[in-house]
Amino acid sequence: MRDRRKITVQGIVQGVGFRPFVYGLASRLGLDGMVRNDPTGVVIDVEGDPYCLESFLRALVDEAPPLARIEGMCAEEQPIGHYRTFAIEPSETRPDKNVFITADVATCAECLREFNDPRNRRYHYPFLNCTNCGPRFTIVSAVPYDRERTTMAKFPMCTACQAEYDAPCDRRFHAQPTACPLCGPRLWVTDSHGIEISRDDTLAFIGVRIREGNIIAVKGLGGYHLSCDGLQDDVVRRLRQRKQREAKPLAVMVENLEAARHLCAVSAAEAETLASERRPIVLLRKRLDCPIAEAVAPLHRHLGVMLPYTPLHYRILQQTARPLVMTSGNRAEEPIAYQHDDAVRRLVGIAHYFLTHNRPIFTRCDDSVTRIVFNQELPLRRSRGYVPLPIRLPRPCTSPILACGGHLKNTFCLAQGEYAFLSQHIGDLEDYFTYQAFVESIEHFQRLFDIKPQAVAYDLHPGYRSTQYALALQDLPCIAVQHHHAHIASCMAENGCLEPVIGVAWDGTGYGTDGRIWGGEFLLASYTGFERLAHLEEVPLPGGERAIRQPWRMALAYLYRCYGEAMASLDLELMRFAGHRPWRVMQQMLARGINSPWTSSAGRLFDAIAALIGLRYEVQYEGQAAVELEMLADESAVKSYAFSFADDCKPLVVKTEGIIRGVVDDLLNEAPASLIAAKFHATLVEIIRSVCAYLRELTNLRQVALSGGVFQNALLLTAVISGLRDDGFTVYTHRLVPPNDGGLCLGQAAVANEILAKRG
Ligand code: ZN
Ligand code: ZN
Ligand code: FE
Repeated sequence: MRDRRKITVQGIVQGVGFRPFVYGLASRLGLDGMVRNDPTGVVIDVEGDPYCLESFLRALVDEAPPLARIEGMCAEEQPIGHYRTFAIEPSETRPDKNVFITADVATCAECLREFNDPRNRRYHYPFLNCTNCGPRFTIVSAVPYDRERTTMAKFPMCTACQAEYDAPCDRRFHAQPTACPLCGPRLWVTDSHGIEISRDDTLAFIGVRIREGNIIAVKGLGGYHLSCDGLQDDVVRRLRQRKQREAKPLAVMVENLEAARHLCAVSAAEAETLASERRPIVLLRKRLDCPIAEAVAPLHRHLGVMLPYTPLHYRILQQTARPLVMTSGNRAEEPIAYQHDDAVRRLVGIAHYFLTHNRPIFTRCDDSVTRIVFNQELPLRRSRGYVPLPIRLPRPCTSPILACGGHLKNTFCLAQGEYAFLSQHIGDLEDYFTYQAFVESIEHFQRLFDIKPQAVAYDLHPGYRSTQYALALQDLPCIAVQHHHAHIASCMAENGCLEPVIGVAWDGTGYGTDGRIWGGEFLLASYTGFERLAHLEEVPLPGGERAIRQPWRMALAYLYRCYGEAMASLDLELMRFAGHRPWRVMQQMLARGINSPWTSSAGRLFDAIAALIGLRYEVQYEGQAAVELEMLADESAVKSYAFSFADDCKPLVVKTEGIIRGVVDDLLNEAPASLIAAKFHATLVEIIRSVCAYLRELTNLRQVALSGGVFQNALLLTAVISGLRDDGFTVYTHRLVPPNDGGLCLGQAAVANEILAKRG
């Protein structure tokens, strides 16, 4: 008795060791037939004992290689084909539709064993990898994913490597980036001007230089890092100064989980994420006795920690035996440097040495950043290790879409069929070079995934560079998506949500349909449209953009709204600070509304409170005041401030006067800032709960989606989730894309897709 099945497997099944796995499985079960890659995935033709065939089908799913992601599988019965062996057949190489490319993968356990084994021919070789690990997205130039179309093409394999590459049972079978010390890339060190320093103990040399307090530019997977000793405060300060990054926290890399536990508390979910093959930076709670230099994450309770993800990282950490600061190799807001000459040119004056190599990076890719809330990931930046793995759309696309994303923290995506392919973190398009990277990356993604967009989605804001890019694309239908609608749609889309929701979209800035600046929004949202049902009270933004960089202006705007001219006599630290500023001018601005656009932004309310309590008058990066307010809050406090609703307003307006007056009273009574910060957070939770309860009455909806940059705040997010759940709501939050503007493109694509489908 023999049966035969023709099986097609879809998903991430190419370049992840799937064919050797199938070969091994068939051999083990004594089955005959063949396996090959085809444009849609993997095709298996298999025959033999019916009982063994059943086991084969089960094991195909249960025992699939670690990097494989099976999205669909079907098995058809076939007449017996009289196969006598099982073979791996050559792939079909015609251009593929929706073939997945894996993200870069951290060094696997087996490779690490070889790496540390003095008898292995790849002992301490900084570029070892296998079918289950190593660079992918950052080295691939085109599909199908084969060595010729990666930056490894220029390294012909030696006989030993070629033999492994060709052997179906070897763990390096068709491992495209495989290499060894004989045939692969090599490492060297240069001085601060890029001149090679010839040494045979490169890594020992680097180890000593780091411990001595030098800054090293290290070429990694997706670009250069700037690295230094994380224990020496003066060194970290020098790095900040040179890099022009005054305040934004830096991440550290430590050798293993145990080393991470010396610095921070690490929960089981956090440990799992840290050690995952994605190896993101995870925000962890610092221990009280955390030995990390204060300058790494000043004023922060949290520390961004990651584990090594390339063999080179392991070597450096073995040599230095201490936590290393690892921050992207760039100045201020420029894109990360990834080519040697460019890195030397741009990082001269920052790095004392360059640790570099000759395996080119094809695509730059920053580290990803995530935190764990309620045992699941809350992504803050989705990039290396995650990109370009697709995100499934709630409904398949009628035609391919390009969604251009936002202006800050930009990412874009291409959507086709059931999937959205989100780009790596591009950054702030205000910077010219970042905008160039945006344009190039869109072209690269179109080639890589062979997607020709038939429509383009973009933010409603006319001033965004991403919007201007979209509008310049000739002949494509353009769909403008309101900023907060896109935030909510992105949260709905990643949760596969099809029904309308109450969307709470709180962030810093987004262009509203009335031309005003929104940011404290409650929407009744579906993909095809939304209604603004409630929002935070609007206040003027005195000085426009400058008020974003200078929270003291926001505090004055709120005070003026509550106290009018009488605010001048308030006995507050802020007033003494403002007294030295062009304060009269400001007062006139506020009184007459000159250069003071209106905003309902929740982010600006955070800014105002931070300035009121004297925590921060000016910020160096977006969201700094809000982050510091979160860090400051005394988590044991329970009280809150008063708030109210404006009479008979449509949409409903949440008045914030009670909060401002409450904070001022507390300040005059010398209440600790940590208590005020906590009460402020608690008030926001109550606002969200009571508005959602009211909107449930109005709309009969019991589903709430939370999105926007404000929900990066774990203190607020956890309290809002628990509160809303207690109130009987189903709560959707982000776990695949960031709640900040890095997730906008997914929402734009989902909205555009539904609108196009409706248009028919
Ligand atoms: Zn490996
Ligand atoms: Zn070799
Ligand atoms: Fe936003």
